[in-house]
Amino acid sequence: MKLPFKPNIKDKVVVITGGAGVLGSDFAKAIAACGAKVAILDLSLERAQEVALEIKRVGFEAIGVKANVLEKDSLVEARETVLKVYGTCDILINGAGGNHPKATTTDEFFNKETFGKEDNKSFFDLDLNSFNFVFGLNFTGTLLPTQIFAVDMVDKPGSVILNVSSMNAFTPLTKIPAYSAAKAAVSNFTQWLAVHFAKSNIRVNAIAPGFFSTEQNKALLWNEDGTQTARSHKILNNTPMGRYGEPEELIGTLLWLIDNDSSGFVTGVVIPVDGGFSAYSGV
Ligand code: NAD
Repeated sequence: MKLPFKPNIKDKVVVITGGAGVLGSDFAKAIAACGAKVAILDLSLERAQEVALEIKRVGFEAIGVKANVLEKDSLVEARETVLKVYGTCDILINGAGGNHPKATTTDEFFNKETFGKEDNKSFFDLDLNSFNFVFGLNFTGTLLPTQIFAVDMVDKPGSVILNVSSMNAFTPLTKIPAYSAAKAAVSNFTQWLAVHFAKSNIRVNAIAPGFFSTEQNKALLWNEDGTQTARSHKILNNTPMGRYGEPEELIGTLLWLIDNDSSGFVTGVVIPVDGGFSAYSGV
C-alpha cells in the first residue's frame, strides 16, 4: 500500500473495531505498513483473520480477533487476547458502524399519498428495535470499546482514540434518522472524551468521511441492476468534487491524527474528508 507519509507509530499496538470492513481493513493495512501491531476486531472472525493474513503475507504484523462492539463480555475477551499477544493497547480506532435498511424511511419527505401503503416505510412505521439497533451500533459501539480499551491508555504518552463520524453529524441526511442521530452523538462524545482525557495523555478525535461506496450503504446508492439510485445522483451533485471518495483518501488524515508527532496538540476535532460536501449549500 502506498502511504502518503510514514508516521512515528512503529511497534504501537493499534486496535481497530470493524477492522474487517471496507474502510477498517484499509486503515488496518496502512497502519500495519507503518510498523505498528494491529488487532483487527470484528463481528466476523473469519474476515478479520483474512485481513490479518493479508497483512502478514506482506511482512507486517496483525491479528484477527472476534468482538461484538455491543457486548461488554465479548470486548473484555477481545482485550484479554490483545493483551496476551501484544501486551497493551496504545491506539483505539472505533470503526464499527453503519446504517441498516430497517431503520430507513422510504421517502425523503413525509408523503400522505404513500403513507400506509404496504411497501412504504414512513417515519411512523419505523420500528423502535431497528432504530435502536442502528443507533446502538454506532454510538454504544463507540462507547463500550472505549471503556474497555482506554483503561490501558491512561497516562501513556502517545495514546489516541479515533472515532468515525459522518456527514450526518453536521447536517442529518434524509431517510436515516437513527444513523444521523448516532453519528451526531459520536461527534459530541468525541469532544466530551477529548476534554475528559485531556490531562491523562489520551487525545480523542474523529474523522468524518463523506461518501464512499461500501457494503453498509450499497442499498442506498446502487439499484439491483448496478445503476445508480436517484439518491446516488443527488449525493454526487452535492459533492463539489463530483465523485465518491476512495478509501485510501482517508489514510493521510487517519495517520496524521494517530501520530503524536504530527498532531500532538490536536484533540476534540472532527475532520471531514468529503470532497467539499459539508462546505456546500447546494446553491
Ligand atoms: P463496512 O460495512 O464495510 O464495515 C463495517 C464493519 O463493522 C464490518 O466488517 C462489520 O462486520 C463490522 N461490524 C458490524 N457490526 C459489528 C459489531 N456489532 N461488532 C463488531 N464489528 C461489527 O462499512 P464501512 O463503510 O467500512 O464503514 C466503516 C465506518 O465508517 C462506519 O462507522 C461507518 O458508519 C463509517 N462511515 C462510512 C461511510 C461510507 O461512505 N462508507 C461514510 C461515513 C462514515
